[in-house]
Amino acid sequence: MSDHSSIEWTDATWNPVRGCSKLSPGCKHCYAETFSERFRGVPDHPFEHGFDLQLVYAKLPEPLRWARARKIFVNSMSDLFHERVPDSYVKEVFRVMVDADWHVYQLLTKRADRLRELTRRLPAKAVVHDHIWLGVSVEDRKYGLPRIDELRRARAGKRFLSIEPLLEDLGEVDLRGIDWVIVGGESGPGARPMDEAWVLNLRDQCRAAEVPFFFKQWGGVQKKKHGRKLEGALYDEFPKAEVGAVPTRTLRWAQLRAAQARAEDLEAQLGQLPLVTIRRAV
Ligand code: SF4
Repeated sequence: MSDHSSIEWTDATWNPVRGCSKLSPGCKHCYAETFSERFRGVPDHPFEHGFDLQLVYAKLPEPLRWARARKIFVNSMSDLFHERVPDSYVKEVFRVMVDADWHVYQLLTKRADRLRELTRRLPAKAVVHDHIWLGVSVEDRKYGLPRIDELRRARAGKRFLSIEPLLEDLGEVDLRGIDWVIVGGESGPGARPMDEAWVLNLRDQCRAAEVPFFFKQWGGVQKKKHGRKLEGALYDEFPKAEVGAVPTRTLRWAQLRAAQARAEDLEAQLGQLPLVTIRRAV
């Protein structure tokens, strides 16, 4: 877990999984891949295996260490619903989020079909909580919009959209059941442009549907140059969330020890995923 995140809409990141594989145009310039591959082959580095998918058992209990409440982006460097992450591992991530309920969790995926399928198989009390926000990435009409329907059908306490990188005008978006929308342009080398009219369209639809709107950035090759104001204003809206009270230190450490024991049991059962390097053009 990283105590601080430069991502505008979160406070910290928690990565119990590392690595992923590309599946749609939004993945083209995946920052997680670029970062991870920089360290491939560096002995004992957390990203020694580059972007190959790995389960990081030691990280599973980490939110329970954090006494101070914060917004936590779950798997900023991966996709928890990747097809190779075992169901029992995903369930343990939810178990920790339910136990450490003084934080808000922002769990974002492009594997919306698995999100829907798995959450519907779990009992509501394992998934549906106001502090656990489930979201899908939406970059275009073809791949992104169908994910919104899957998200609506998933069990969730709160649902959100991360419309980044926004690659085209999305037209009319069905915002029924959606609690939060983030919009942003792509940044870094080769960044694809984003038209202001596409962003205004989404802001106006959020206003009409009374959905909190967060404008993250214009992006571009030098993102600082373009900033994050839209028509001269910052949009930093969040949904309201009920979170639990921070437990006593004794209780928190008891929960932490129990989570560590479960992580060890899970590791004994599942072991590590075979290393597979998947390079898929998108
Ligand atoms: S799903 Fe996310 S983490 Fe995985 S390759 Fe695509 S952008 Fe990267």
